[in-house]
Amino acid sequence: MRKKIVAGNWKMNNNKAETDQLIAALKAKGSFTGVEVKVAPTSIHLAQAVETLSDSAIEVIGQNMHQATNGAYTGEISAVMLQSVGVNSVILGHSERRAYFNETDEALEEKVASAVKQDMEVVFCFGEELEDRQSEQHFQVVEDQLHKALFSLPHTAWEKIVLAYEPVWAIGTGETASPEQAQEMHAFIRGLVAQNFDENIAENVAILYGGSVKPANAQEIFSKPDVDGGLIGGAALNADDFFAIVQSI
Ligand code: PEP
Repeated sequence: MRKKIVAGNWKMNNNKAETDQLIAALKAKGSFTGVEVKVAPTSIHLAQAVETLSDSAIEVIGQNMHQATNGAYTGEISAVMLQSVGVNSVILGHSERRAYFNETDEALEEKVASAVKQDMEVVFCFGEELEDRQSEQHFQVVEDQLHKALFSLPHTAWEKIVLAYEPVWAIGTGETASPEQAQEMHAFIRGLVAQNFDENIAENVAILYGGSVKPANAQEIFSKPDVDGGLIGGAALNADDFFAIVQSI
């Protein structure tokens, strides 16, 4: 049976003390069952988060990484650096990285390959812009993004891939895809994976939904058969809200 996952992307929020406070508040919420829970603090706080969450089932993941192992790439971090502080999973392709840091599908293909080569899990984000949906190009846009970044991977790499469909128009806007829109797209994505790889891989890959998931809408979205959890931004910064979303699975 495929995994259920709820991951919180803290983006560029929380200083050292605030990171500790949020982690303490999450730990105080107690345990959860039947779902993998991950949090992505900013890179400077990863090591501290790994240490403070070492006695908890919450996994610490990265928000980004460079494709090279090391070298003259000022300001960047690599898969081996993440692993050296106990981080074995990374978000790649977030729409903010694509929009503000010019991450192309080609660069993402390299990043994914590099992460997988280092045996890291990848939470791969993709999704259409508002104008793509309005012009009914959303299926084509999603297919292109997946093709360019993921479809040259070997079959074996899929054990390390988690997909996160995040329509850009729903990220941080308060507007969510309806549960039906999410299900329609997730079923389409699973079909693409089956066509390009095989049924078994498609059946086992977790496909998360991201875009203004809140305690009030999580249960309905997560109830859809091809939605295997969520990637949460804003609501992940509040322990009560994040935990309520975790419990909605
Ligand atoms: C995100 O940034 O991945 C995200 C889903 O943000 P939000 O939940 O705030 O829309």
